[in-house]
Amino acid sequence: MRLQDKVAIITGAGRGIGQATAVKFATEGAKVVVCDLNQGWIEETVKLCKETRGDAFGHVADVRDISSLERMVAATVAKWGRVDCLVNNAGIVADAQLKNMTEDQFDSVIEINLKGVFNCTKAVVNTMLAQQSGVILNASSIVGLSGNFGQTNYAAAKFGVIGMVKTWARELGRKGIRANAVCPGFIATTILSTIPDRVLRALEEKVPMGRLGRPEEVANTFAWLASDEASYINGAVIEVSGGLTI
Ligand code: NAP
Repeated sequence: MRLQDKVAIITGAGRGIGQATAVKFATEGAKVVVCDLNQGWIEETVKLCKETRGDAFGHVADVRDISSLERMVAATVAKWGRVDCLVNNAGIVADAQLKNMTEDQFDSVIEINLKGVFNCTKAVVNTMLAQQSGVILNASSIVGLSGNFGQTNYAAAKFGVIGMVKTWARELGRKGIRANAVCPGFIATTILSTIPDRVLRALEEKVPMGRLGRPEEVANTFAWLASDEASYINGAVIEVSGGLTI
């Protein structure tokens, strides 16, 4: 198993890509910390993880709240002694064209999708530095490569995530810590629920593979990047989009 006994914290793991990633990591033998806002979803993901070959526990933590993240890391180290991988996956959308976008819409997306990634990584980095090993994986987006209509806030955050990843790859590479970004295209999760069906169908048409992605297809990429098979992959930005941007 690729991730046998590796300890991984996954944010936004209550549903969508985060849940699929937690289950994939557990299937590959990892011990998973399921972080999200909603206790019910956390319990569901923990249950799914425990049905595999891995182990899991849940922790309610808000990526905006550094002290709740520090408590989560302390609980992880107390239980399993280390943190091998952090998957910064939690994210939201609050779309509007620039002329209509409120300051609150801008700030809320930056606070979770950008500063939340900084907060979580700050919370684990000293543990990884002490171990002289670790992998920091981050959900960016194809919107973090090309921008998108109605997503000034989201694009700013997802471009920013790529900037932080490249910085961490430089700062931490010699300390045995790798940092990488994954850029999903359009993946069938609730985050797409505000997009009208006819727009979704049009988006599918633009994908060379002719369909939306599945959460498991992003999860598989995170799992490979977390594994020792990706031991020389650092500072990379990997698209999982069915070829949407070509
Ligand atoms: P999702 O189904 O909406 O899941 C996101 C999870 O993050 C939810 O469980 C959510 O909880 C949680 N979350 C939100 N705010 C949080 C906070 N402050 N602290 C902790 N957890 C929080 O979204 P997804 O589609 O799986 O997306 C996962 C990641 O991939 C996001 O970063 C997203 O931007 C990125 N991505 C997705 C797509 C796509 O097409 N699906 C494409 C490109 C990139 P609540 O529901 O309670 O808010």
